[in-house]
Amino acid sequence: MNKRNTRQKNLILKAVQSSMIHPTAEDVYKTVMRELPNISLTTVYRNLNQLAADGVIKRLQVPNKSDRFEKNPDKHYHVCCDICGKFEDLSEPGYNYNLDNIECPDNGFLIKSHDIIFNGLCARCKNQ
Ligand SMILES: [Zn+2]
Ligand SMILES: [Zn+2]
Repeated sequence: MNKRNTRQKNLILKAVQSSMIHPTAEDVYKTVMRELPNISLTTVYRNLNQLAADGVIKRLQVPNKSDRFEKNPDKHYHVCCDICGKFEDLSEPGYNYNLDNIECPDNGFLIKSHDIIFNGLCARCKNQ
């Protein structure tokens, strides 16, 4: 990998790691563009995909919305606000490991892992 590509990749990784919002590819693009004005959204996508494939970051698939990227390697759930779209980690309830590695009696499906995104109202929107 040449120097330019390494710099791009590092900035993209930094943008994900320093973000508190589980950024979408567009969020990352906007951040990285401040330092690399000529970077394309395609390049950002490609690097995010690569970082996710390498296991450096995680991709979160959000139903009917853009994928988000995750820096937190621990298994955890998320909340998403119906009004403002705020998307955050949830520490309680914590990840239920008891739901993994179980074989469903009805169809024999073996569950390996699960993701939950809780929908509702964040503290701010709730009080408005
Ligand atoms: Zn909200
Ligand atoms: Zn998270």
